[in-house]
Amino acid sequence: MKVPPELISFLKEKDNFFIATHINPDGDAIGSSLALLFALESIGKNALIYDKDPVPEIYRFLPGHEKFTHSISGLNPSAHNLILLDCNSLDRVGIDGVSFPFASVIDHHETEKEFGDIKWVKPDAAATGMMVFFLLKTMGLEITREIAISLYTAVVIDTGGFRYSNTDAEVLRVAAELVQAGANPAEISKSLYEMWSEKRFRLLIMALNSLEIRYMVAFTAVTREMYIKTGTGPEDTEHFSNFPRMMQDIRMSAFFRETGDNEWKVSLRSRGEVNVARIAELFKGGGHKNAAGYKVKATLESAKESLLSHLLQ
Ligand code: 5GP
Ligand code: MN
Repeated sequence: MKVPPELISFLKEKDNFFIATHINPDGDAIGSSLALLFALESIGKNALIYDKDPVPEIYRFLPGHEKFTHSISGLNPSAHNLILLDCNSLDRVGIDGVSFPFASVIDHHETEKEFGDIKWVKPDAAATGMMVFFLLKTMGLEITREIAISLYTAVVIDTGGFRYSNTDAEVLRVAAELVQAGANPAEISKSLYEMWSEKRFRLLIMALNSLEIRYMVAFTAVTREMYIKTGTGPEDTEHFSNFPRMMQDIRMSAFFRETGDNEWKVSLRSRGEVNVARIAELFKGGGHKNAAGYKVKATLESAKESLLSHLLQ
């Protein structure tokens, strides 16, 4: 993977960085940010890592996760060079309207916005973590144990545990190198997939019970009432959208998470040629070919219908 030379010069020449990633962060967002933070610190740079939302419980095994800041109130943007990771616009970070002296973007989403002085956006990269790996290698930086754990987590999450179609020989070679550098696959998989709280499991049962299949689209939903009943919150719903895709005849899984009165966050998952990034874009969202999302203001029923009407066109 070829890394833009101007990105390397930028990282070498500047001293203060603000690494920001997307709201509702996943393992790729968090792992890539931590890896880049450790790497920049190892060459004497100052860096802050920012996410608007808290680090979800399942990622709190990652070394350094407590370094995430969730507020920009103490930040002087003019002193910091921005690095956007795993997203390509400030509205995905939730800090729209702040201006930085220089902005770089490292991302692998298909849906790209006009933002950034240096843009490195590679939709064919399996994870932003893969891009950060090649960036560090090209810069000649050591893949320490902490970096290896962060990047392995990023790659595992975005390849669905090396099951999705983005898993190729290069992904497996990088993963092997990360294991050699100190990432323990069994320990990381256990932390990510086998440490659920009972309340989270009960929320999943409720979500699966809401299943409705129309035109080979599997709809599921989590309401705010379900959070109250189970003592859970939105961060407990990660991975929920993937379950209905296990059914062989499903074209798409559409998972609705209630965020307010008649307000929903929708997660789409598909297989093969059904491009959900294009569907999410119709609702001003975005993502990847087989995993994307958007927000919608409507009743659940009309939100489902408008999604179906776009899909069936
Ligand atoms: P998830 O459904 O897990 O929230 O997100 C799936 C993928 O779509 C992720 O790569 C995520 O970054 C992207 N995505 C989810 N929601 C949105 C959205 O509202 N806007 C954009 N641009 N991307 C989204
Ligand atoms: Mn990603």
